[in-house]
Amino acid sequence: MPSFRDARSIILDNVKPLAEMTVPLADALGRIASRDLFAPWDLPFCDNSAMDGYAVRAADCKTLPATLSVVGFLPAGDEQAQPPLKSGCAVRIMTGAPIPPGCNAVVPIEETETAGDQVLIKRRVQPRQHLRLRGADVPSGARYLAAGTRLRPAEIGMLAAMGQALVPVHRKARVAILSTGDELVELGDSPASGKVINSNALSLAAAVRETGAEPVLIGIARDDRDSHRQKIAEGFDYDALITSAGVSTGDRDLVREILAELGASELFWKVDIKPGGPTAFATWHERPIFALPGNPVSTMVTFELLVKPALLRMMGQRQVIRPFLRGIMAEDAHKQTGKVNFIRVTLKKRHGRYLAFCAGDQHTGVLSTMTRCDALAALPSEASFIAAGSEVDLLLLRDVDLVAEERELG
Ligand code: AMP
Ligand code: MG
Repeated sequence: MPSFRDARSIILDNVKPLAEMTVPLADALGRIASRDLFAPWDLPFCDNSAMDGYAVRAADCKTLPATLSVVGFLPAGDEQAQPPLKSGCAVRIMTGAPIPPGCNAVVPIEETETAGDQVLIKRRVQPRQHLRLRGADVPSGARYLAAGTRLRPAEIGMLAAMGQALVPVHRKARVAILSTGDELVELGDSPASGKVINSNALSLAAAVRETGAEPVLIGIARDDRDSHRQKIAEGFDYDALITSAGVSTGDRDLVREILAELGASELFWKVDIKPGGPTAFATWHERPIFALPGNPVSTMVTFELLVKPALLRMMGQRQVIRPFLRGIMAEDAHKQTGKVNFIRVTLKKRHGRYLAFCAGDQHTGVLSTMTRCDALAALPSEASFIAAGSEVDLLLLRDVDLVAEERELG
């Protein structure tokens, strides 16, 4: 039985980035750049002022206060070629305006006093102070964006500054989500006795969307072979297929049997984790198929551990494995040996360290513990008892920094 790390490696070895396309920059947030991009020009484009103040020659300001004649005004956006700045002179300048030739410093307005058409410089002036020199941010020809980078607002701004109106990215993965089980009713129907609302489809769709991929709900396969055949075959039309439930050893667990019948190759079944032990992974004509267990928490945890890195890889992201954060168990924990247990924990921060507390009932059907938790704590396979105070690996499930700070114990 593979460890979850080995299982993840097998999966990552069997997926590859999807085709390239271009998108308008305004729609590129969250997409993954498919190429290295190089600066077509210097950023900034020309030497300019970083402050509102006076453009001066630093050598004119050696004895303080220095008195200079104000010979001009340079607003931002001015395109006129400026005459060279003569010794003993200063030009009033706005932030972003190109500096005149001969100027090698800008004195902020706060460090000056005006007297008629003269300006008094009251503080020491260093050559190059408050200048933004041509190419100092990014020189022309330099790589400013690496292939495989997720585009955040900062990258969007950089791309705009480089004039990149269309951005090369990888295609979004279209991911089919198939639920299985006779007990399932769709969202909108009321849950009668013995019935369960198909919540996995919605939680999986949300999780898929969070990766930047596009979920497509293809419905429910009922617990008979024909229904499984038809629905699984429908799922083969997408870039990836995620199924939930029907993957254990029950009489009506048909997913693996039908996958095999339809020609999919299974690369593993069962992983050394709890929840999520019975997860299977297969490919069909190079398309990945993730057969996840049906208990809602197992479905979400296995998505996080095994499916998410694969979807990110398919969309071209370079860094797909989220590293664990080190924390401390705040309470004793008991478990059976033989599987890595991912337990749902809440976090508090004390003296800069994360303390993990059991978030509640750890049964894999219990959704409320999942909504309450901040992270999964990975309890090692061989351990049967983890004492309070032990170090533990944490996989964050929310941007916990703020939450945990609010709960800071002091
Ligand atoms: P199974 O693997 O088919 O035995 O399902 C395991 C458990 O997961 C059962 O309690 C199911 O009711 C539950 N379950 C299966 N599919 C879903 C689903 N789509 N949404 C919510 N719960 C589900
Ligand atoms: Mg079932």
